[in-house]
Amino acid sequence: MALVVAINLLSDNVKILKSEVSKTAYQGVLIAIASIIIATCLVSFYSTGELTVNGIWNAQRDNTVLWLLDSIPFIFGFWGQYSSSIIAYQAGAIIFDQTQELRNKADNLEKKSNYVSTHDPLTDLPNRVLFYDRVERAIFLANSQNKMLSILLIEIDNFKEIYDTLGRNSSDLILKQVSTRLQGVSRDRDSVAKIDGNVFGILVADTDNLSGLEQLASYIQKAMEPPFIVERLQVGVHSNVGIVHFPEHGEDVDTLVQKAGVALHMAQSSNKGYALYKSSFDNHSPQRLTLMSDLRHAIERNGLELFYQAKVSITTGKLYGAEALLRWNHPKYGFISPEEFVPMAERTRMIKQLTAWVLKQTFRDCADWHKQGIDLKISVNLSTKDLQDPELPDLIAGIAASAAIKPEWIMLEITEGSVMNDPESALGIIERLHGMGYQFSIDDFGTGYSSLAYLKKMPLTELKIDKSFVMDIMTSDNDAVIVKATINLAHTLGLQVTAEGVESEEIMAKLKEYGCDIAQGYFLNKPLPVKDFNQWMSSSDWKVNLIPTQQ
Ligand code: C2E
Ligand code: CA
Ligand code: CA
Repeated sequence: MALVVAINLLSDNVKILKSEVSKTAYQGVLIAIASIIIATCLVSFYSTGELTVNGIWNAQRDNTVLWLLDSIPFIFGFWGQYSSSIIAYQAGAIIFDQTQELRNKADNLEKKSNYVSTHDPLTDLPNRVLFYDRVERAIFLANSQNKMLSILLIEIDNFKEIYDTLGRNSSDLILKQVSTRLQGVSRDRDSVAKIDGNVFGILVADTDNLSGLEQLASYIQKAMEPPFIVERLQVGVHSNVGIVHFPEHGEDVDTLVQKAGVALHMAQSSNKGYALYKSSFDNHSPQRLTLMSDLRHAIERNGLELFYQAKVSITTGKLYGAEALLRWNHPKYGFISPEEFVPMAERTRMIKQLTAWVLKQTFRDCADWHKQGIDLKISVNLSTKDLQDPELPDLIAGIAASAAIKPEWIMLEITEGSVMNDPESALGIIERLHGMGYQFSIDDFGTGYSSLAYLKKMPLTELKIDKSFVMDIMTSDNDAVIVKATINLAHTLGLQVTAEGVESEEIMAKLKEYGCDIAQGYFLNKPLPVKDFNQWMSSSDWKVNLIPTQQ
């Protein structure tokens, strides 16, 4: 915007200068010609008593004063040239100044936008993007200079409690104070960053000795001990610190941060509040820790697959839609559950690529079904981290446009936990997508914090009762009561209800009695690859909805 204004200003100035030059030149020429004509006529008239062509010619030839006058156009010409070059010079100077100003403005704008995309707006600390970038550079240097480095992740354990009790403003103030204390306790050349809502990172680079790192972690714990003061309240902050070393624990930033996350988890149960990563911390075999780079390959080389599980309308008996469920058949370890690798991807930046892959594939499959005249609403699972990514709505808009699907064909599944993590920004993203025409379903209902206040605030279409309640309704009175009450609650809030984990005909009948709208579960089908799902559709008792024009 500022750039356009400056360019307009520049071209206006040039126009003014040009007209100034032309005006001066025209004036000069006109005055000179007029003076010559008048003078020649006067001299001719005085010497011959009349105005004839001959008289004018003689006057011109004999009168030396007229010669002087004749030279005037040249003088004005010269004057015009001279003044125009002065003006052009001034114009040049102005243009130079303004170009310089323009350049400075453009530089400032670029710096500002770079800064915004690489820093946390609250604490002014480098954000996840810049932190990862710095770690990558540090790894490169450490490799070439045979040095070591370390990453510490610091998580505020009781942040959710602080947020729920004191609200956003006060918890923001606490985050700012935490950032100041962390900067105070670390050395000047260590890089402190805020890499997530309540997680900070410290990069200790370019070092030959990592033995002092546990001491640094203990200093961090000490620094967090004095109570934080907000609104004249004294608030205690409990933090955990996870430590990893390069190259001992990993050779790339994703693996290192993932392992620091494991160490962080272990720190929670350690009485010191910090833990250095040990391979025994991991529930899985050490090879599995290379999973993240394998997952990257799987995303890039189409090593993942989507399975679809039917959603059937209990009232009409027709197929309502299907949920897309991610599958990874690892070349070495075989099938790996999404419940295992999705949370792992969430700890690193991989989740963004993973979600993008899932969205692209689902939208393509969804478009194919609609092309075949089958009206299916496809449910896609979004992860916690997706709802913290302000680029998600644009990403979805782009993928939808290239797959030529309509937003109303899609249902986005979110969990209560994913919203509670950073409610303000999650709600903003949900509302943007809802405005674009996407519908939302709250997944795994009943297993999370179940904040009815947020449930009311969100533009939801559907509530999904978690399978852990549904599977046992025939044997557990408690679960039956919970399911029945949840269906009533959802209907009161104007939401449709899907029960997942419908494993038998009896459960289906019971759900119908309770007024549940949609069923999903092994009784209908297990998640199937597209080809098998198509076969299932054509042979199953549950009729598909055909798109009217093709019926
Ligand atoms: P979810 O969203 O709750 O998905 C339902 C899970 O229940 C699926 O497990 C499904 O196979 C299973 N299920 C369905 N019907 C029955 C039944 O009758 N009985 C039993 N015992 N289980 C049933 P799955 O496919 O292993 O997925 C597990 C979780 O992984 C999903 O839970 C979801 O949270 C996550 N996930 C799956 N795909 C994606 C994805 O594309 N993106 C993200 N972010 N998460 C995904
Ligand atoms: Ca789901
Ligand atoms: Ca679920």
